[in-house]
Amino acid sequence: MRVFVMKRTCLLSCFLALLLPLLSRQEEHSKLLLVSFDGFRWDYVDRVPTPNFHALMEEGVQVEKVENTYITKTLPNHYTLVTGLHAESHGVVANEMYDPVLNRSFSMEGPEVYDSRWWEEAVPLWVTTQKAGRRSGAAMWPGSDVAIRGVYPTHYVPYNASMPFEMRVEKLISWFLGTEAIDFGVLYWEEPDETGHNVGPESPLMDVVIEDIDRKLGFLREKLKISGLYDKINLIVTSDHGMTQLSRNKIIELDAYVSQDLYTWIDKSPVVGILPKEGKFEEVYNSLENANPNMVVYKKEDIPDYFHYKHNARIMPIIIEAKEGWTIVKNRTEPFMMGNHGYDNHLHSMHPVFVARGPSFRTGYTKTAMRSVDLYPLMCYILGVQPLPNNGSLASVQDLLVEKPTPRPTLPSVPNEPSYAWALGLFLGAALVVGFLVPFVKQVTQRQLPPLPLSNQEISQPLLQEDHKVALIHVPVKHGLSAKSNQYYWCHA
Ligand SMILES: [Zn+2]
Repeated sequence: MRVFVMKRTCLLSCFLALLLPLLSRQEEHSKLLLVSFDGFRWDYVDRVPTPNFHALMEEGVQVEKVENTYITKTLPNHYTLVTGLHAESHGVVANEMYDPVLNRSFSMEGPEVYDSRWWEEAVPLWVTTQKAGRRSGAAMWPGSDVAIRGVYPTHYVPYNASMPFEMRVEKLISWFLGTEAIDFGVLYWEEPDETGHNVGPESPLMDVVIEDIDRKLGFLREKLKISGLYDKINLIVTSDHGMTQLSRNKIIELDAYVSQDLYTWIDKSPVVGILPKEGKFEEVYNSLENANPNMVVYKKEDIPDYFHYKHNARIMPIIIEAKEGWTIVKNRTEPFMMGNHGYDNHLHSMHPVFVARGPSFRTGYTKTAMRSVDLYPLMCYILGVQPLPNNGSLASVQDLLVEKPTPRPTLPSVPNEPSYAWALGLFLGAALVVGFLVPFVKQVTQRQLPPLPLSNQEISQPLLQEDHKVALIHVPVKHGLSAKSNQYYWCHA
């Protein structure tokens, strides 16, 4: 009998030795806040004094060149940051789209941004985080107020351009500290993109907005310090793209080459999506192919592979890419911007800033280059979440981390659809516990052995917020702001 109990004790010790690291990892996970200042070009930090950005570089890491994804527009790149996928794979291929399968059009300024079908070719990290049993919070990140695969962030605010940055910060910090504390937060701010478009990145007026953003980053740092989160949280500050200067002398007018009657104009300059009318493909393509030396015209199938921008029905049959600094319009009646982005993602002017600090990151380290798709596996590693299939590489960015990642077991995420393999695993696990642990506890109780360390075995965290109670609220509107701010929004009660 004694031999039997010893064998069982030995087996149980092995079992717990395997199990406990998995369980304790639930509580070891680092917290992570991802911040995007829209259109913050990589070199803005050296153009005017930006003490808060530089403090983060000294306390953490900086990446000099972040190759973002093509096309270098706002929605494709924000979705890349939280999915690790190129645009052709996550499906948000532009700010303006047409889906021939859905036979619907999409504009980032329209109500269709709330139609989840535009987002559901991929799953963003806040959804995966929640399916792994943890919580997330989102302040205005593109797509975060949409029920993607039926899941909202645990806490979020519906998009409202008039909400001040400081209020967005206060909300996120309250979510990190609350009773249902979040593990992963995302924060979005519209500048310096808007000013960059209006005045152009070379304008001295940009200096003011860059300094203002540095003050906003200072506000975030201060609030994190006051709340006691500063040294516990991993903070990543980046952007979706850069910005380049335009000129009224660099305008390409398509009306000079092809009739508007022959095609539908889907996405705007500098990478224009052209949908030829039925039977007009060759006529449109031939008219444009060699029309102007300052643009490149691609048939969809001929788009270079290195753009990763081909294999999606939402990419139009003809793509026209302007050379840097050039603007494509139908004619000069269209409004003109002094700055723009969207160009070739290999241009340095299109690249965003990247700084990060926190317990997972090295101190005072500068990395030469990374790809924005690599951020997703890095964030999954920090959060301890199993990444979904993606285009990124953790190995490419592991030098940013204090510890070189080693393959570690992670708790499996719950599949979206019922899975027999998962159910079988659950059944076998339960059988193991019932058949093994229960008799052992009996033995322990009977023999009054010292109690086992059960304190960190609590794994019954909610997997998904089933009760997404919603209430209709009205967001006050200021005139002249984004169309998105003038709406009724569904929001968590
Ligand atoms: Zn923009």
